[in-house]
Amino acid sequence: MSVLSKEYNACIYARLSRDDGDKLESDSITNQRALIRDFISKHPEIHVVSEKTDDGYSGVNFDRPAFQEMMEDIRSGKVNCVVVKDLSRFGRNYIEAGNYIERVFPFMGVRFIAINDSYDSLDRNQSDSLIIPFKNLINDAYCKDISVKIRSQLEIKRKKGQFIGAFAVYGYLKDPEDHNRLIPDTYASEVVRAIYKWKLEGMSQGRIAEKLNLQGVLCPMEYKLSMGIKVQTNFKVRKQALWSPRSVTRILTNEIYTGALIQGKTSTPNYKVKKIVAKDETEWIRVEDAHEAIIDRRTFDDVQRILQKDIRSAPDEEVVYPFSGYLKCGDCGQNMVRKTYTSGDKRYTYYICSTRKAGKGCSTHQITDDELNDAVLQGIRSRVASVIEMEELLKIVESLPETQRNVFNYDAQIVKLKEDIERNRSFKMKLYENLQEGMIGQEEYFLFKKSYESKIQSAEAAIVAVEQERQQAIEQNRENYAWIDIFKKYQNITSIERKTVVELLEEIIVHEDKKIRLCFRYGDQYTKLVELLGNYSGTAAE
Ligand SMILES: [Zn+2]
Repeated sequence: MSVLSKEYNACIYARLSRDDGDKLESDSITNQRALIRDFISKHPEIHVVSEKTDDGYSGVNFDRPAFQEMMEDIRSGKVNCVVVKDLSRFGRNYIEAGNYIERVFPFMGVRFIAINDSYDSLDRNQSDSLIIPFKNLINDAYCKDISVKIRSQLEIKRKKGQFIGAFAVYGYLKDPEDHNRLIPDTYASEVVRAIYKWKLEGMSQGRIAEKLNLQGVLCPMEYKLSMGIKVQTNFKVRKQALWSPRSVTRILTNEIYTGALIQGKTSTPNYKVKKIVAKDETEWIRVEDAHEAIIDRRTFDDVQRILQKDIRSAPDEEVVYPFSGYLKCGDCGQNMVRKTYTSGDKRYTYYICSTRKAGKGCSTHQITDDELNDAVLQGIRSRVASVIEMEELLKIVESLPETQRNVFNYDAQIVKLKEDIERNRSFKMKLYENLQEGMIGQEEYFLFKKSYESKIQSAEAAIVAVEQERQQAIEQNRENYAWIDIFKKYQNITSIERKTVVELLEEIIVHEDKKIRLCFRYGDQYTKLVELLGNYSGTAAE
């Protein structure tokens, strides 16, 4: 037992956070300390030199004061052993925790002990034991076979808006405290937002997929695997899957990102035969606000309408009048219907409320085509004028630092890629050990080595691509205001065409007194710009 003859200066680390849903009693700081003290009393080679406690800090990140102090003590050589009650006390971010435990600590010669997970880095034969908690995490993601008996219970959960899928959809994670709930995945949700943003900016799904691949963003399947990488460890060599137009479309059309949960689209009539049958849309179970939205409803709807427009590029169908589907009654909210009558050789067109027409109350809200055309024309002109004026102001403000939230998070992407490189490097380093220990053969050794090297290379290339992209983004910040150009096209507008209505308007609301309210598209962007300019003029005045 010569290994154990070394003396260790230990730091006892404890953490508690209500936000993480910790069980206050069994996880209390006092409890954690007592358990660790008890453990150390049986290990004479370990001496406690410090105690660090993060009370009220989430384990999701490592930006905790006591944890950082402990790292400082490790760097200065004061501490060379860390003891925690269990891995979740150390951290709840499994990738980062793995980084520390597998990479940082071994490198700094720190012994790490997680008592309840019976993990001790000193015990080389036990190197497997760390895998167990991670394995559990992955196992959690698998649904057990659904028998007839529990199917009705699932139905109840669906109706309550609880998530029962086997895997969380890309962009979300299963809440570790409640597996029926989804919580946004900080990293992947950022990617989802970027995909929607790019689509709104007019990119095709193919172009988006290309861009994501170029930036080294893992496609949903690869990402899922990378989250479970501790389970897979090094023993898998295969070609990496990439983003495709189809996978992008799947994200662009999944309503789950708006916070709505739609389940029960299919059913298995017989659980022994794994045949899946699509159910009628009326039988779907839909719950709004079941979880935090990643994409707001407006953005989602805009994207759907763009996708629709993409599809129906055959305009020779039937005649579509400029305002078809856009006119709404200001009182009952229903569609207005188009009517015509002929007097002499003149033909008149007017619109009335459909509720009125059906004889179900409401007043006529009658308005003629000419009145409507004039009103809409005036409205569009004044909107265009104000957009142009704002653009002028924007040119002044453009030198401002980039403050808009909606930009793609390049930094996070680069951090993620660097982590990938580090991880693959450490796997590569461990390979030779594995070879010597007889865990893998020569042939596998070279195969794995090559695979890690190519992964490192492609991640490095991706970092370069992302950095270029970031540079371009700074230069092309103006692209965020692409919608301005849409309005500017109508500077000299003289008549209303269908295309104008589709391009600029969301809805036209007709009130009884013939007052008309135009709901413009890009209203959020417009408001945001007004606010931005407002803020600017505010500070400038000081
Ligand atoms: Zn009405």
